[in-house]
This record gives sequence, structure tokens and C-alpha cells, in this order.
Amino acid sequence: MKRININGPRLYASIEELGAIGAYTDKQTGLVGVCRLALSDEDRQARDLVRSWMLELGLSVDIDTIGNIYARREGTSPELAPVLVGSHTDSVPTGGRFDGALGVLGALEIIRTLNEHKIETRRPIVVCDFTDEEGCRFGTDMLGSAVATGRLALDHACALTDKDGICVGDELRRIGYRGEMNVNSLRPHAYVECHVEQGPTLIREGFDIGIVTKVQAIAWYALSFTGRAAHAGATPTAYRADAGLAAARINVKLREMVESGIYGEMRATMGVIRPEPDMVNVIPGRVLATMDLRNPDDDAM
Ligand SMILES: [Zn+2]
Repeated sequence: MKRININGPRLYASIEELGAIGAYTDKQTGLVGVCRLALSDEDRQARDLVRSWMLELGLSVDIDTIGNIYARREGTSPELAPVLVGSHTDSVPTGGRFDGALGVLGALEIIRTLNEHKIETRRPIVVCDFTDEEGCRFGTDMLGSAVATGRLALDHACALTDKDGICVGDELRRIGYRGEMNVNSLRPHAYVECHVEQGPTLIREGFDIGIVTKVQAIAWYALSFTGRAAHAGATPTAYRADAGLAAARINVKLREMVESGIYGEMRATMGVIRPEPDMVNVIPGRVLATMDLRNPDDDAM
């Protein structure tokens, strides 16, 4: 079989065009970011553009009742389960133009390339754009795919509200993306998602691409340390109950646990460490902190 390549510059141009929707310039860094919150007007514009490209490529487009977009290229054996390829086009408030977009537009570039070379595939290929992957507006991430896979009930998802009390179902209708297709009707043979790396590993190690072999389990904890607030000068060390010190010890202990290797590839982060009363000359009487634990291995977690 002869090797064929996608058209990189064409893919890049489509990412730039989509990235212009919701683009903003960060005042501090001067960098251009993307703000396309799920089911916002910007999300609608992005969906409209992506859908127009899907139709241009001759795909048949279906939208399900949670707003996931599916664009199908028929296979020579249409009765076979399709190969699903895609990602998401919503963003966090300070997103980048590649996150999600690369997966959806990369999938469309595959279709363009197959069309150009008049290549037929045995299985149908379905390009998908999942609703609200980010979860920062309605509080539940991977919402569209969670409903599609049956992890969340449709009614529950549609009733979720944002900080202004606006619900998913109403917003889907408002932007015109509450479709007719049953959310559970697609049973793919396989799913492929190309996603930009959001950590430093590939670039540091000099790799162009990596293949995901594991997904990290996540556990979040809110920690509260209670000690006794007292004067920093007048209180001898022996008489102190320093909540700040306790929090610091837990943080150091977490790092020791990670580095011990006993817990596999665990990652631990105390992202919030908030002392009370938060004053230079007062021993903290209380500390509120958070702990984020991640591990690709359930047992080690
Ligand atoms: Zn993403």
C-alpha cells in the first residue's frame, strides 16, 4: 500500500481559522489565546464553521440530543461499526488554539486526504466534535462524551447550570445544537483522538508524537489543619501549635511518597495552601489546603 500524507499547511490554516473565533490577547504575556466556553455564542460560531467544512467534504452530519456532532464518511461495508475520530472545539476561558481543535480538524484533514486520493475504507469513518469537553462552565468535564457512553444520564446533563443559572438544555436549544439523534446510538469499532500535549515531556525529550497508554485517575481532597494562632515573637517554639508547619510537613511527605517509587507514577500537588489569619507576625491557627493526587495505576493510587 502506498504511503500518503495529509496536507500539513492546509491543516494548520484550518486551525488558524477556527482559532480566530473567540481569540483574545492576554494583557500580561501578549500571547493570543482562545475563549470559547461550551454552548456560548463563540462555541456556536466554531460549530457552524466546523459543520460547514464537514458538509463541504460530503459527510452526512448528525447532531445528538446533547449536541455532539457526528459527520460520517461511508465505508464499503456500511453495516460495520465505524471508526470514530475527533475531539472537541470548546475551550477553557484561557485556552489555546490547538487543544481539541487539532483532533477535530485533524480528522477532517484525514477525510480531505482520503477524498483527494479517492480512497475507500471498509469501515465508515465518523468525525466527532464532543460537547463541553472542558467542563468549566457547567462543572462537569467531558459532558458530551459522558452522555454518549452512558456514564451520565441525558436529563441530568441537560439540567446542569452555569454560574448564572442557565442550563445546558436551554443553551443547546438557544445555539441551535440540540439535535435529534439518540445519544447512545453510535457504537464505534475504535476511537482515535489526536491531541496536543499539555505537559512538557514530548518537547523536552525531543519527540514529535507520543501514544497514550494510560489514563490518570484523579482524586481531590480539601484539607483543614487546625492549630493555635499566637504571636510570632511572644510564643516560645515549644508552646506552638503551628498549622502552617503541619501543612508544610504534609506537602514534603507527599513529595517523599512520590519519590519513593512505592506509589507507581503518582503525582501529588497541594495547589492551595491558605493560612489564617495570613499575617506576617502571627503563627497560623488554621490552614486550608487542597491535595490533587493522580495515578495511572488504580492499585498504587
Ligand atoms: Zn482538549
